[in-house]
Amino acid sequence: MTTKELCPMCSGFLIEKNVETLLKGGNDVASYRADALVCSKCGERVYPVQLVKRFEKIRRQLTRGDISDFEPIGHSYKVTVEEPE
Ligand SMILES: [Zn+2]
Repeated sequence: MTTKELCPMCSGFLIEKNVETLLKGGNDVASYRADALVCSKCGERVYPVQLVKRFEKIRRQLTRGDISDFEPIGHSYKVTVEEPE
């Protein structure tokens, strides 16, 4: 698929790609794979409106702990040790 749409950040060409997005809600993260328009120049991702709404819903579900629709794929960790000089 080709598109004439341009990146809102740098006016580069947007190319449709299947990308994985990480959605955060509270301390939890869910990954979601979907088609987005990705800028060939700066990597900015532009999502369709319906998808942005879906992302908001998933973030709210994560914040509430309403994760019955989601499949666990592992744990998330925060690195607390600083990088040695
Ligand atoms: Zn761009």
